[in-house]
Amino acid sequence: MPVLVDSHAHIDMRLYDKDRDQVLERAREAGVAAVVNVGCNLDSSRAAIRLAEQYSEVFAALGFHPHSAAKMRDGDQERLSELAQHPKVVAIGEIGLDFYRNLSPREVQVEAFNRQLALARRLKLPVIVHCRDAQEEVLSILTEWACGAGGVGGAGRAKEALGVLHCFSGDRELGQRYIEMGFFLSIAGPITYSSLEIARDLPLDRLLIETDCPFLTPQPHRGKRNEPSYLSFVVAKIGEISGVPSDVVAEHTTANAIQLFRLPL
Ligand SMILES: [Zn+2]
Repeated sequence: MPVLVDSHAHIDMRLYDKDRDQVLERAREAGVAAVVNVGCNLDSSRAAIRLAEQYSEVFAALGFHPHSAAKMRDGDQERLSELAQHPKVVAIGEIGLDFYRNLSPREVQVEAFNRQLALARRLKLPVIVHCRDAQEEVLSILTEWACGAGGVGGAGRAKEALGVLHCFSGDRELGQRYIEMGFFLSIAGPITYSSLEIARDLPLDRLLIETDCPFLTPQPHRGKRNEPSYLSFVVAKIGEISGVPSDVVAEHTTANAIQLFRLPL
C-alpha cells in the first residue's frame, strides 16, 4: 500500500472528540503515515501540539487563519514563536487572506498575514497559505516575501521550499508562478467532483495532497465528515486525471511533504 501524507487536517476540532482514536486508526490502515494538523488560532494551535504529543504520526502547524485575524492580539506572535520551539511543529499556518467571507476586516487580515510571514521567516519554517477570492493580493504579498526569503529573488539560489498554497484553485499560470517562487500546491477533495484547471497539467514534483478535514469531503463520501483515511480518493483521482499510476502520485506527494515539512519519515 502506498504511503500518504495528509498535509492539511483539523482533527483537533470537537467533531472528532468522540472517535479520534478510530479516525487515526483508519488513517493508518489507509496508508496515511503523517497528518499535519493545522491551527486556526492560538487555542487550536495549542491543541495541534497536544495531538502531536499524543499521536506519533501527527505534526503541528501554528497560526491565525484569516477568519481569526481580528482575534490576533499583541503578544500572540511571541506566543506562537514560543510554541514553535516544540520539535513536532513543522509549519506556520494556516495563514492568508479570505475575501470571500471577510470574517475579519481585510486590512486586519493583511496585517496578520504579513506578521505571521515574518514570524515564519524568523523561525525558518515553511508556511501553509489559505487564499480565497484574494488571488492578486496573496500573490503580491507572497512575491515580496519570497524575494526576501531567498526564493525567486534570492540571486539564483536553488529553490527553497517556502510553503504550500493549500487547496489550490488557481489556474496553471498562477500555479507555475508559485512553483517558480518555491511553493508547493496542494490538492484536496474538490478534485473528485469539480473540474480544476490546474488538474490538466499537475506538476507532480511540486504537488501535495490534503483532506482539510472535516471539510471538503471527497466523493464518494461527500456530505459526510471528512477524515484523513479519505485521502486515498484524492490520490486516485489525481492518478486518473494525470494518467499516472496512483502509487506514483503517492510516492511524489509523500516525498514532497517530507521535503517541505522536514518530516522524520
Ligand atoms: Zn484548513
